[in-house]
Amino acid sequence: MKEVVAGIDIGGTNTVFGLVDRDGNILADGNIKTSGHPEVEGFVSVLISSIKNLSSGFSDLTISGIGIGAPNANYHKGTIELATNLAWKGIIPFTSLVSKEMDLPCFITNDANAAAMGEMIFGAAKNVRDFIILTLGTGVGSGIVTNGELVYGHTGFAGEIGHTIIIPGGRSCGCGRQGCLETYTSASGLVRTVLYMLSEMKEPSLLREIAPSKLNAKLITDAAKKSDPVAMEAFDYTAEMLAFGIINAIVFSSPEAVYLFGGLANAGDLLFEPVRKYVDRDIMAVFRGTVKILPSGIPENNAAVLGAAALAWKELKK
Ligand SMILES: [Zn+2]
Repeated sequence: MKEVVAGIDIGGTNTVFGLVDRDGNILADGNIKTSGHPEVEGFVSVLISSIKNLSSGFSDLTISGIGIGAPNANYHKGTIELATNLAWKGIIPFTSLVSKEMDLPCFITNDANAAAMGEMIFGAAKNVRDFIILTLGTGVGSGIVTNGELVYGHTGFAGEIGHTIIIPGGRSCGCGRQGCLETYTSASGLVRTVLYMLSEMKEPSLLREIAPSKLNAKLITDAAKKSDPVAMEAFDYTAEMLAFGIINAIVFSSPEAVYLFGGLANAGDLLFEPVRKYVDRDIMAVFRGTVKILPSGIPENNAAVLGAAALAWKELKK
């Protein structure tokens, strides 16, 4: 019998899942709609029967555990709490609902922590005991690993570097406060920067041809690759803000590496080179040159399922 775990990633619109072996091979995968299930019990029942269907295609597989990545997931309690982009309100006892349908060890954490697990078990951080991953997507998530363990903290919600305040009184954030790292270094933060720079800078720019509502990180990245002055200036500013966030995180936990994943990280050297330059310029001397800033080693299209599966494998080993 070949042992696998089920890795599940719950997003606002879609939920993806896969059966993953110890080496990070996804043997089978599938997806269902997250929206359209007003009651969480109905959703869990469809999800688990889909996973059972998936495994019934193999005669020699045994599922040993279930790992789940979800927004606002509490690792300590097995709950999803007050998630604004899911239909289920309040505090959902998610892992116990899953265990009622399938009697297996079940673990849950938020998506960025799952990304950190994926990096540690299957990705670029395999032999790294102390690292931080920042996910630069619609928002900015983070997972902090020290001494080989994820930092969950007292509440289970530790590792919200995206909501550290970079500029007091700065841009308003979805969390209700102002000046968070996320408002400058997420994909939408980059768009906000470009809109401001288009009005302040006199230089010609390809981005002036695009309606403001159509601007996105991909178009800005493409323009920067063509040496568009506004796009390049926007990347430079974004990198400087991101460097402040990284510097604050480095003095807190002294990682060996910081991995950047998803969205803006796909811009490659356009982002990495200035980030490294600003970190080096502004970091405390004792930390200078001690931290590598690197791209994630996990392919983006498989990352969510692999991260959730890595959580299950890591917990089953304990
Ligand atoms: Zn915030």
